[in-house]
Amino acid sequence: MAYAGARMMAAAFRSVGIDATVAPDSDADTLDLGGLNSSGEECLPHKVTLGDFLKVCRQPGFEPQKTAFFMPTAHGPCRFGQYAPYLKQVLGEMGYGQVAVVSPSSENGYDGVGEHAGDLMRAAWMGLVCGDILVKFLLKTRPYETTDGDADHAFHESLGDFVGVAERGDLSVKERLSALAAGVERMRERFRAVPARYERGRPLIGLVGEIFCRLNTFSNDDVARRIERHGGECWISDIAEWVWYTNWSHESQIIRERGKLNADYLKAKVKSHTQHKYEKALLAPVARDLVGYEEPHDVREVLAAAEPYLPAEGCLGEMVLSVGKAIYLHAKGADGIIDISPFTCMNGVICEAVYPAVSSDHDDLPIRNLYFDGVNTNIDRDLEIFLDLARAYQSRSCRERVSPGYFE
Ligand code: SF4
Repeated sequence: MAYAGARMMAAAFRSVGIDATVAPDSDADTLDLGGLNSSGEECLPHKVTLGDFLKVCRQPGFEPQKTAFFMPTAHGPCRFGQYAPYLKQVLGEMGYGQVAVVSPSSENGYDGVGEHAGDLMRAAWMGLVCGDILVKFLLKTRPYETTDGDADHAFHESLGDFVGVAERGDLSVKERLSALAAGVERMRERFRAVPARYERGRPLIGLVGEIFCRLNTFSNDDVARRIERHGGECWISDIAEWVWYTNWSHESQIIRERGKLNADYLKAKVKSHTQHKYEKALLAPVARDLVGYEEPHDVREVLAAAEPYLPAEGCLGEMVLSVGKAIYLHAKGADGIIDISPFTCMNGVICEAVYPAVSSDHDDLPIRNLYFDGVNTNIDRDLEIFLDLARAYQSRSCRERVSPGYFE
């Protein structure tokens, strides 16, 4: 998934004594290995994750009996639920049957991670929130930097700092939270120190779509950086959005089946409340810097926005989030929306069918689907045209974007 989120997740595992690391960066070998060991019917995230895991198996000194791959799963209408069983099958066929595949499920809000589950989930959640904040700072700073590379440098330095805190196993929950909040302050100062010219007028482009392809820069051809080169600024839907959605989905399922008077519902509410509390504490140091960049207070705002087009009780998965977030971002002043999806992804296909209505109901906001399948195509031409549409929309839109005080 997102590089920062994956690094923070690995650090969370280390904090509970599990020797974890992120898979090596994806490259051409990833696509070759993933392609060779799949049927060609699967979606790009499957090919990329499978290829990356198989690359790990080929590393010198690889010990199958001491290795586990972390591949969450989901019970929904798409192919993601098949990734983990498929990975196990391929590993078995290749003689790596001893490699464990650890697969917490979205069905129970990813609770089923076994021993140390509580500590791990708390550390992972705090880490993912820090990763999301870091990406937000990168995207809101990089388009305005006066020297290429400064914002990326601040990003990597801050990520290393966060990882150093997140992997510590000697911290209580309270200490971890306050150490990470201090890390957020240091990150804020690093980004504030990046020489930049914050001029108003760059079109703001919302990036929604399938979570892996949207957040994995290898899979989406680093589309955010390309948009910046074409004169735009990006706001990408973060990882937390998916966690809030799976929490909502889990709670809704309990209510449907057993009502609210049961221990599982109470547990789900407490978990959600605690996650909100941690998120609030980590966001507090950067509240002033994120004026105009606020995420929804509750995922139900996003689901409610999508309701006229894709009701959340009937349409499961990311399609609802993509449509709802597109509408939310329109209200925040976005000048265009790009939906990033793997080729043949049903989420992207369904969203594409309703976007014309969404656009026409929202001032003809430009909305475009971009599909990726790991084959190099020239997306710059499409982006250039889209940015022109976004600029045209911006010049006729009466919606004023709220910008932080440091904009000129
Ligand atoms: S969301 Fe789309 S790309 Fe992802 S697994 Fe489902 S169908 Fe495939």
